Amino acid sequence: MLDWSEPAAPSRRMPPPKVAQTAVAADQTGLGTIDRSGGRVSVDDKRMINCRADVNQLLPLKYKWAWEKYLAGCNNHWMPTEVSMQADIALWKSRDGLTEDERRAIKRNLGFFAASESLVANNIVLAIYRHLTNPECRQYLLRQSFEEAVHTHTFQYIVESLGLDEGELFNMYREVPSITDKAAWALKHTQHLDDPDFRTGTPEADQAFLRDLVAFYVIFEGMWFYTGFAQILSLGRRNKMVGIAEQYQYILRDESIHLNFGIDVINQIKIENPHLWTKAFQDEVRAMVREAAELEAAYGLDTMPRGFLGLNAALCESYMHFIANRRCAQLGLQRVFDETENPFPWMSEAMDLKKEKNFFETRVIEYQNGGALSWE
Ligand code: MN
Ligand code: FE
Repeated sequence: MLDWSEPAAPSRRMPPPKVAQTAVAADQTGLGTIDRSGGRVSVDDKRMINCRADVNQLLPLKYKWAWEKYLAGCNNHWMPTEVSMQADIALWKSRDGLTEDERRAIKRNLGFFAASESLVANNIVLAIYRHLTNPECRQYLLRQSFEEAVHTHTFQYIVESLGLDEGELFNMYREVPSITDKAAWALKHTQHLDDPDFRTGTPEADQAFLRDLVAFYVIFEGMWFYTGFAQILSLGRRNKMVGIAEQYQYILRDESIHLNFGIDVINQIKIENPHLWTKAFQDEVRAMVREAAELEAAYGLDTMPRGFLGLNAALCESYMHFIANRRCAQLGLQRVFDETENPFPWMSEAMDLKKEKNFFETRVIEYQNGGALSWE
């Protein structure tokens, strides 16, 4: 066995000056000066935020749940171009296959998701990654970032397949007020994290980081995306836009892991920093969830002013209340709405892809792997 270990062999070179030592110990990005004389990382040194252990060392693993979500994400790999769009194209181009109300709902839904996937991706890469000081969580964030790229690709592929107006769809988050209101609400919780001078380490800054996690993982991905999935999957259940519905099922499978990762991250930060989770802060998070449900209700009315078979704004609103209460429970918070029954019980089936046809069995897909690489 090769042994490359050099246990604490004192370097004969000049030790780095003391000031640099402090800077090394406090390096939370992983891009600081390498600590040549520090000890090895032990599991007990690892922390979700404000960690002083080297973030460039994945092992030893501390948070198995983060690593398991990374593996699950890799196992769920898919590409939008593997889904046939023929039936959707025929239906979209047909004169009477879809009502004007259905077309409006579909376009608004696609417009909401098209830019939202980029907002979520930018938040991960530019705000969350930097401040989450744990390598196994960062490993998952890298996987998640790629999945968000696949989701954005999905909307490019849909626009191209159906011949939609790309400018109309990708600008909806700026031009349709009910969509802009949601995006702007989430962005206000991330903007200051993007400030180069922002640092975690004070209760105020750490709570600001938690607010960003709540806004993006629990609310954006965990609430707003879910009504979006329900809208399209409800059409799919009636055999309309079945290609998009299949793609949404794969997105939903990815997003359910994103959401659960976010919940686990927040709960672990709570365990390690109980002083952040004050009664006032809990009330603030519950108020965020309530406000987000109201924004979603406005979007629902705007997207489905009349409603159509199996779907209307009122049903979407009670689904949002059901989801909002569930998210509160996952964070250990009191519910924010009266107890509501799930108006879309079939959503839980849609989430369990194993019950549906497995597209890896219905299609022959040859992913390039090491053995199949050709360098010609
Ligand atoms: Mn996504
Ligand atoms: Fe996501």
